[in-house]
Amino acid sequence: MPFPAQKSTDSTPLYAQVAFPVHLSKTFTYRLPPSIQQVARLGSRVVAQLGAKPLTGYIVALLPHLRTGTSLIESEIKEVQELLDVDPPLTAEVLEITRWVADYYAAPWGEVMRAALPAGINATVEQAIAITAKGREALMDLETSSPDQVRTVALRLLASEGEFELSAFCLRIGAAKTPQWLRQMETEGLTERVYRTRPTVTRAKRRRAIRLVDSEADESKSNNQHVTESQQRAIEVLRAQQNTMAVSDLLKAAHISESVVRTLAKRGVVTEFEEDVRRDPLSRAELPDTEIFKLTKAQTDALRAIEKRLSEKAFATLLLHGVTGSGKTEVYLRAMQAALDLDRGAMMLVPEIALTPILSRRLRAHFGGQIAIFHSSLSKGERFDEWTRLRGGAARVVLGTRSAVFAPVRNLGVIIIDEEQDSSYRQEESPFYNARDTAIVRAQKESAVVVLGSATPSLESFHNAQRGKYEYLHLPERVANRPMARAEMIDMREVFARHKKPAVFSDDLLKAIAETHDRGEQSIILLNRRGYSSFILCRSCGESINCPNCDVSLTYHQTDRILICHYCNHHQRAPRQCPACASKYIYYVGEGTEQIEELLRKRFPTLRIGRIDRDTKARRHQFEKTLLDFDKGEIDLLVGTQMLAKGHDFPNVTLVGVVSVDAGLALPDFRAAERAFQLITQVAGRAGRGDLPGRVLIQTYHPHHYALRHACAQDYRGFYDEEIRHRRNHGYPPFVALALLLVRHKDAARASATAQELRLALVEANKDHACRILGPAPAPFARLRGEHRVQLLIKSRSRKQMRSVIDAALHNLQKAGNDLRSVTVEIDPVSMM
Ligand SMILES: [Zn+2]
Ligand SMILES: [Zn+2]
Repeated sequence: MPFPAQKSTDSTPLYAQVAFPVHLSKTFTYRLPPSIQQVARLGSRVVAQLGAKPLTGYIVALLPHLRTGTSLIESEIKEVQELLDVDPPLTAEVLEITRWVADYYAAPWGEVMRAALPAGINATVEQAIAITAKGREALMDLETSSPDQVRTVALRLLASEGEFELSAFCLRIGAAKTPQWLRQMETEGLTERVYRTRPTVTRAKRRRAIRLVDSEADESKSNNQHVTESQQRAIEVLRAQQNTMAVSDLLKAAHISESVVRTLAKRGVVTEFEEDVRRDPLSRAELPDTEIFKLTKAQTDALRAIEKRLSEKAFATLLLHGVTGSGKTEVYLRAMQAALDLDRGAMMLVPEIALTPILSRRLRAHFGGQIAIFHSSLSKGERFDEWTRLRGGAARVVLGTRSAVFAPVRNLGVIIIDEEQDSSYRQEESPFYNARDTAIVRAQKESAVVVLGSATPSLESFHNAQRGKYEYLHLPERVANRPMARAEMIDMREVFARHKKPAVFSDDLLKAIAETHDRGEQSIILLNRRGYSSFILCRSCGESINCPNCDVSLTYHQTDRILICHYCNHHQRAPRQCPACASKYIYYVGEGTEQIEELLRKRFPTLRIGRIDRDTKARRHQFEKTLLDFDKGEIDLLVGTQMLAKGHDFPNVTLVGVVSVDAGLALPDFRAAERAFQLITQVAGRAGRGDLPGRVLIQTYHPHHYALRHACAQDYRGFYDEEIRHRRNHGYPPFVALALLLVRHKDAARASATAQELRLALVEANKDHACRILGPAPAPFARLRGEHRVQLLIKSRSRKQMRSVIDAALHNLQKAGNDLRSVTVEIDPVSMM
């Protein structure tokens, strides 16, 4: 292993600072036993007692002596129980970026480090149960007084068979979970709880293999010893395979039995050994041909600019703004190749890799064994192997989703972030972090180049390019002179006026679906919603109702017929008729993908219809199969949510219909307009990627909305100019920093009481008025998984001051005896839902 042996000197670490993956931002000091002192490294995992239980933690500092001024008492410091690695899984670079994430996003460092490592690498701690001396004494009495009692049976079992793993023991005594009387025995001191650690769950997969010993010499051997026909066959097969093979493969290929291998091994003709088997996520995938595309002038210019920055070996961020179909992927691929040519590593982040089986196959075809693939639907074993190949340097390129930003790529040269505006780069659970922003900081620390790619850059990134903070690269045209797809709006107010009742599909869209099918081409039908539809929308005039303070949609609460702002808690009575046109049709109820699929099946019984949504996404293979079937033309029409809009390239799709764009516009999120704009621009890009012209139909009650108008005209700049003005006027990013503080509790009164206290503490800490504090207000999902959710929104022109106000408020709240586990802090929230 390539780690330098430390000499025992004054600097020999006697203590380690350890962070644990728990809801604590503190780190803890442990003594290192002599056997571990020499081999402990920063970033290695250890098992140590935290509170009552041993846990896996990570070494974040090694100390030759206790820090001066520490309040720790030598005799109270516990010892590290086990060191799990001598070669630390967290490299110096990864350790450093996790520290930044913990600090910037106010997240527990240990949780970030756990998120940075492949799942299943951590040791698990098992609880076991054992009988005590007191228990043995009690058992003797019980055997005579009440031999059939459950307690007697349990103690007898423990006395005769020794320690049991707790859940196995419960199973043995016929209990589903730990029964009360068992806990009682522990309290009485008859039994005790023992913790056992089971280190690394996931490890390399191994198999038996054999190697031919000195193949030149075996001629002479065969002269002395008789070689059977099957032995000769085995030797020949081995020779043809560079003298080495897995035993199982050899048995099959040479049609021999195990005994032949054993005899050859005994005679020293072959040696047996164990080898690692790579669990390859793409082992059974068909790879595409590695095509060589001729770059357009714009692609060449963009690539040159990236290569120039790469050769300077300094940090830089470039924004590659390329319309859909302009060939960004080809630029990414060559930029990564350029990094490899300079002997540096490359990283490519994508929002949803399970959605892009075609992309991962294409990169694999190009980079072969040099690429490692990371995403959420890999098995633990596959993920471990891909990570190990990067860690060891066998792979130099990583393609992955969010958490791949922590991949141990060596000597990182370039980071590509495709669809940089996508909200799935944000982790929506602790540790909350944004992989795009983290990647930029990582690149800065490692002097690498970042390429942010998008057809619809986020407002923040385009703003940075405008200010000259990012270098701007533009691909204004589609490759092969393909025309941009036309997007047309269908005015659902007219449809409503004609039919006098709400319709899911307009006649125009139904007609287009039939025509597309008649031509033998494919269609996509998209819903722009996420199960969230309680808002007011007038079906006669398209009017919706916004908060007078915050410029976001008000949410309709049906039970008490009121409208609420989820940012500032503004309340108003829901009107009975439209304030603009006096129509009475002012509610909105959306349909789900399933209902849409049902409706289409009834209407078009001969169409082969596929569906993709959150449910199917959970089943990885089903999901990939549906996409690949659609790609092969075995499905005529695909129904799905916005995830279908991302990054697919289906040349035979000539119609895309969006049936509920208004539901997306009405989300109580200041980015709702930006998201709707991005969605439509992207879906327009999905149609007509091949040689056939595409058509995009958007059903809306809001045809005058600026996001829709600019999206239909494919006018990014027009949208940006209008949207950035709203952001400036109403105080939203990029002009202010935001933090979202969420209080959750099973009890509604407790949740709002804590939120009120939090507000008071924030106001108290905000004496300089550096922040605006909004709320508490009910969160858009006011009840989730049995918890009531109340939120506060904080805005400030200074991110630094905002952080110190939040830190001071939380500190004071905790000092006053509040449990902060019910409070989560999100810095730079992306989704306000
Ligand atoms: Zn109206
Ligand atoms: Zn408001």
